[in-house]
Amino acid sequence: MNRDVPSLEKDRIFYSYAPGHWPEASREEWNDWHWQLKNRITTLQGLQEHLQLSPSERAGVLLSAHKLAMAITPHYFNLIEVDDPEGPIRRQVIPRLQETHHHPSEVADPCGEDAHMPVPGLVHRYPDRVNFLITDRCAAYCRYCTRSRVVSGVGEQELHTEFEEAFSYLQEHREIRDVLLSGGDPLLFSDDKLEKILSRLRSIPHLEFLRIGTRVPIFLPQRITTSLCQMLQKYHPLWMSVHTNHPRELTLEVKEALEKLANHGIPLGNQSVLLSKVNDSTEVMRALVQKLLQCRVRPYYLYQCDLIEGSAHLRTSVAEGIKIIEGLRGHTSGYAIPQFVIDAPGGGGKVPINPSYVLSHDQEKIVFRNYEGKIFECPEIAQ
Ligand SMILES: *Cc1c(COP(=O)(O)O)cnc(C)c1O
Repeated sequence: MNRDVPSLEKDRIFYSYAPGHWPEASREEWNDWHWQLKNRITTLQGLQEHLQLSPSERAGVLLSAHKLAMAITPHYFNLIEVDDPEGPIRRQVIPRLQETHHHPSEVADPCGEDAHMPVPGLVHRYPDRVNFLITDRCAAYCRYCTRSRVVSGVGEQELHTEFEEAFSYLQEHREIRDVLLSGGDPLLFSDDKLEKILSRLRSIPHLEFLRIGTRVPIFLPQRITTSLCQMLQKYHPLWMSVHTNHPRELTLEVKEALEKLANHGIPLGNQSVLLSKVNDSTEVMRALVQKLLQCRVRPYYLYQCDLIEGSAHLRTSVAEGIKIIEGLRGHTSGYAIPQFVIDAPGGGGKVPINPSYVLSHDQEKIVFRNYEGKIFECPEIAQ
């Protein structure tokens, strides 16, 4: 716990880490998202030029080449704590040996997605909405990725999205009103390629609501160009869910990218995954959610880490998540509080998990407590 205190002070402010490890990069290069992608750290040698690795990290990097690739953009790499192998940024993107440990309850497809794909790449699990996996590539790879079985292109399984079949399915299934574009990260597509998909979806009248799930504003804020935003705003209502776990990830550049999206009318939500030694404390989560509001992002979900193979070292107890929500509710803006959920193993969908405020409830009255532990009661509806 104490470990977090000194670093958190700086993490509460919006700070730029550029150019950090890349002093030779010109400003144009640094701000070019293609340069960022081209200069990603993807090898053991590349990592060791900048960081002293622990033995567990070294082994993890070598083994990741056959499981979930390692890739870290220069922008994000600069946030890594050089002296602390247990740092919150480092643990998210640098593989470690524990990724090869398989806990008996862990599986390759924890949310049972493969069994809910009527068309390859289209997950239809809820009545009125679908998750459309349009790519298997990301700007950087999160070590706890729930879709690591297909993402990054080095694992055993591959994603073969059938676009034409998926569009036909969406056209025929008029009960679908909400399409979530995900992957992989949809914002790695060129503007043109992404626009082709969005305009095709918009040609289907019953699709009311489009959203994009992306970590690009965090890993690669340079991608959020004015031309991208101008293209996206033609397809409203279009919402975006970003993914941040720690307040340090909200840098000056990330804040600008998020503001640009918001200025183009895109409502922004954030999804966090509860991760051991990353954000498993009320102090860190409070700093994160308060900073998100400053970026005009509404915290949406806090996920219990899925039971993905090799993620036990990053998982926390469910009780910890409940404790964090309790530490937020009442203590900070209601808008800052995400819904804690467990994506039910096997494909049951997201289930809200809440602290219990109700002490008793019958036909006559409800007895409940507030965030301070004070007890209240209200009559049930008076007949
Ligand atoms: C998470 C998810 C959605 C979206 O769920 P919301 O609770 O509406 O944000 C839709 N489909 C699938 C398969 C999902 O996993």
